[in-house]
Amino acid sequence: MKDPVCGMEISEKDEPIIHNGKEYRFCCATCRWAFEQNPEQFTSS
Ligand SMILES: [Zn+2]
Repeated sequence: MKDPVCGMEISEKDEPIIHNGKEYRFCCATCRWAFEQNPEQFTSS
């Protein structure tokens, strides 16, 4: 699994954000915050 914001590989088991039925995890609170502000920007598929 990769951090959708910065592309870093994520191995830790942090609390995921569920968006459109998919789980997303983040390397840090900053990436998590950025995703929460505008999920569509990082899930354009
Ligand atoms: Zn990140």
